[in-house]
Amino acid sequence: MDAPDCVIVINCGSSSLKFAVFSMPAEQCLMKGIAERLSTDDATLKIDHLTEKSTLVIPGADHHQAMVAVAAALEGLRPLSIGHRVVHGGEAFSQALRIDEVSIAAIESCSHLAPLHNPANLIGIRAARLLFPAVPHIAVFDTAFHQSLTSEAFLYAIPYWLYEEKKIRRYGFHGTSFRYVASESARLLDKSLLDTNVIIMHLGNGCSACAIRNGKSVDTTMGLTPSEGLVMGTRSGDVDPALHQFLQDHSGMRLAEITHLLNTQSGLLGISGLSNDMRTLEQAAAQGHARAQLAIQIFCYRLAKSICGLMASLDRLDAFIFTGGIGENSSQIRQLTMHHLQIHGVILDAERNLLHGRDHHGAIHDDQSRFACLVVPTNEELMIARDAYQAIHFSNS
Ligand code: ADP
Repeated sequence: MDAPDCVIVINCGSSSLKFAVFSMPAEQCLMKGIAERLSTDDATLKIDHLTEKSTLVIPGADHHQAMVAVAAALEGLRPLSIGHRVVHGGEAFSQALRIDEVSIAAIESCSHLAPLHNPANLIGIRAARLLFPAVPHIAVFDTAFHQSLTSEAFLYAIPYWLYEEKKIRRYGFHGTSFRYVASESARLLDKSLLDTNVIIMHLGNGCSACAIRNGKSVDTTMGLTPSEGLVMGTRSGDVDPALHQFLQDHSGMRLAEITHLLNTQSGLLGISGLSNDMRTLEQAAAQGHARAQLAIQIFCYRLAKSICGLMASLDRLDAFIFTGGIGENSSQIRQLTMHHLQIHGVILDAERNLLHGRDHHGAIHDDQSRFACLVVPTNEELMIARDAYQAIHFSNS
């Protein structure tokens, strides 16, 4: 039997490489996998063929060698295109882009804005181009969806020359997830995307929220870097801008140590002293762990406060949307967060919430609620596959 038309999606991180294969236009996931702990003795490639799973040990494999192992696993497939996740597109990219030497240089020029992510994304792009030279490669940017923000939402109140000369501004992230969830929300709300106004909360290890007006991002909680905004697994989110100086003066920490502390030792982990994982915290909190309870309370309060702020960017709101590992699975976090929005007349239905909106088209709100609340699972890989597929269709037609 001929292999189906398919698109490969590649998400290359600093020590891992994720991939997925979708048949197109059916959008069915045929296979996915992850190479982890790259460049260590414990490197592995896990492949999920949907009917069976396998794990290959690839000791010492770097990104390129992992990509060779992935290409071997994909033998027999004839991809139409390959979509690559790229974290930061700066102000240069507001949509997906076909990759060539010029665009690689442009992505490189954004690397200082995402020094942990863009260089890793580029390693994946280069390795995949060597292994699949005849296939079009498409870059899909996390920041692109937020290029519709207006200057009142994206500028910091700092001297304007820092924006003009250094491009210091708010960019926002999780754009691929927001775009996918916005289109799914429009479908569930039975509206056209261009007439959809929602606030989406993407709550995973990283967390951000986005206000969408007429299908476009108009404000979001992350900024120049993913550190701004909500409380996250290990990131503090917003802190007093004077905190760095204060910590340096009073604890003797160096700037890089403070940044490390705020990115990797803070958030849910920092407050609880236990874990960055919400499941672990919920279990501990239920058993009376006071700091796990406190971490959950702060997480929900800060989230509620931020989404109230995002409401300022909308003239109408169709629904609040929860997505990401926490947003899709934790009825407790949704309940605690929405409880803070009582003043806006938001009421959840306890049973629908416990069932994560299943059987109710995602809806978890009470019929008396002033605003709808939905749980809408995200699928960033599928969104990248759609972009990669559309990019070649568009250019071929
Ligand atoms: P990433 O941002 O790495 O993609 P995910 O979107 O998978 O992460 O989200 C991971 C978070 O989701 C973790 O904090 C995890 O504990 C949480 N999570 C997953 N399932 C549940 C659940 N059933 N209840 C509460 N939290 C959950």
